[in-house]
Amino acid sequence: MNKLVLALALAPAAAFAPTLAPRTTTQLHARQPIIAGNWKLNPSSIQEADGLAKGVASLLGSDTCAASSAADCTEVVVFPPFPFISSVVEDLNGVGVGVGAQSIFHTAESGAYTGAVSACMMKSLGCQYVLCGHSERRTVFKDDDEAINKKVLKVIEDDMRPVLCIGESEEEYEAGLCEDVCKLELAKDLAGVSGEQMKNVVIAYEPVWAIGTGKVCPNDVAQGVCKMIRGYLAQMYSQDVADAVRIQYGGSVTPESVDELMAQPDIDGCLVGGASLVAEKFARICNFVRA
Ligand code: PEP
Repeated sequence: MNKLVLALALAPAAAFAPTLAPRTTTQLHARQPIIAGNWKLNPSSIQEADGLAKGVASLLGSDTCAASSAADCTEVVVFPPFPFISSVVEDLNGVGVGVGAQSIFHTAESGAYTGAVSACMMKSLGCQYVLCGHSERRTVFKDDDEAINKKVLKVIEDDMRPVLCIGESEEEYEAGLCEDVCKLELAKDLAGVSGEQMKNVVIAYEPVWAIGTGKVCPNDVAQGVCKMIRGYLAQMYSQDVADAVRIQYGGSVTPESVDELMAQPDIDGCLVGGASLVAEKFARICNFVRA
């Protein structure tokens, strides 16, 4: 059963109230912001990948602090394609920008699986994060919620951190199913993840209709969905767990839109695609202006 049909079968979604209150210093300092750049299938050569990584490194310098948990210091992570990871890790050495993998094979660590890469391989290259459930993996590569759940568990087992991407399609958004779809994905993709393990999970709310389209989700809508996600995590786990989980917004984020998005109380970071391929734009997003 597809998600739209399944979600329609559920009780009608309660409307989530947009929260317009500005983020207070206390809220801002409660969770460390995390900005991530998803390079997808870009750039096309190792030379360009090194150029981009070195550009990010020189613009961010020591302003970032991936190794620190200080909440007033933005954590920055980039997700290059597999062949560039080693080199990008080296390019970013000492800069405090983390590196992650865009996916992993969840079934085995070695063996007869042509074309696969394992979590332990990514870990051995220096990856700290792995994207799980990105909409392009769900649609193009047919990763379903069962596979995404296995990836999340495998990433945690191998001492890395999953960035779990969830979000509704345009059709689901127009049908008022955003809340149902997000809850369904959270329930299925986080099955078996403990409250303790949630400390290492980042959730990325990415409305599929906003990814790569130039359509940024309005700030109040993005805030309302992230608040709803946090509320649902409180039901699944506890209020303490929900309050500690970092929730990113993703979908056509730019230097122009980042400040307002980051001013929302339940948005703790952004997952950035297109704009992360231009070092100046990505650096500006990482250096968002705090409300
Ligand atoms: C993404 O790849 O997760 C993404 C949000 O892309 P873009 O910023 O290009 O919309």
